Amino acid sequence: MKTKKRFNKKRTLVFVTTYLLFSLFGAFFQRHALACEVLPVMGYQQINSKVFLAQDISPERTNELSQLVDSAIQRITDVYGAPISKPWILITSDARTSTTWGANETASTHRMPWCTCIIVGPHGQNVDVIAHELLHAEIQHRVGLWRLLKEIPVWFDEGAALTVDYRKPFLPETIKFSHEKIIKVERLDRYKDFFSGNIRENYQASRMAVIPLIREDSFYKDLERIASGETFQTVFLNNDTSKLPKYNVMPEMNTQ
Ligand SMILES: [Zn+2]
Repeated sequence: MKTKKRFNKKRTLVFVTTYLLFSLFGAFFQRHALACEVLPVMGYQQINSKVFLAQDISPERTNELSQLVDSAIQRITDVYGAPISKPWILITSDARTSTTWGANETASTHRMPWCTCIIVGPHGQNVDVIAHELLHAEIQHRVGLWRLLKEIPVWFDEGAALTVDYRKPFLPETIKFSHEKIIKVERLDRYKDFFSGNIRENYQASRMAVIPLIREDSFYKDLERIASGETFQTVFLNNDTSKLPKYNVMPEMNTQ
């Protein structure tokens, strides 16, 4: 009896400690992602069990937005195969709601160890942006958050997401950077480095930098190799790139 009592006490203590640690870690790490867990009880309209429309979106737009999400999933399917991650998605047309949910006016992806949460803002309601964010979610799902943070440089994560984002400034044929400028982005492997300075150019350089590294037919398998313990260096930098397009080597443009 005494042993059982002690066991129960110990179990409660472990549970409370784990819960507190998770809460503290979560709050510190991604409070907005944590908030996504309460989306189902917010009373928002739903497209399905994971996709929510904020109160500012009129019910008449449900079909249109549902089709946008479907088209974005289809785009990823066409390039890499069907995605399997199921991120939370909240779509809003209100800049303030975007900010409340920790996003900019286009879109942001919040990360938690067990899920991702995509906030689509007023300027992000298109296939390009939604496919971009969904690919971030898919990469995390395939690699796992801890391996992603340890192995995947931010420039690679962004460059990969841009491979399904066909906005004109990010199309390889419109990016006229020198080889040196493209290579430089590969030093920006931390968030604070990538998202400072000329951020748009960092995105563009990252789009070019991933061209010789990502093979469409084995991209998911390559990500899963990282999940299994192989390094980014081994998996992506040792790919046979001989048959892939070379970087777009052009004179450096003067950008002011
Ligand atoms: Zn991105």
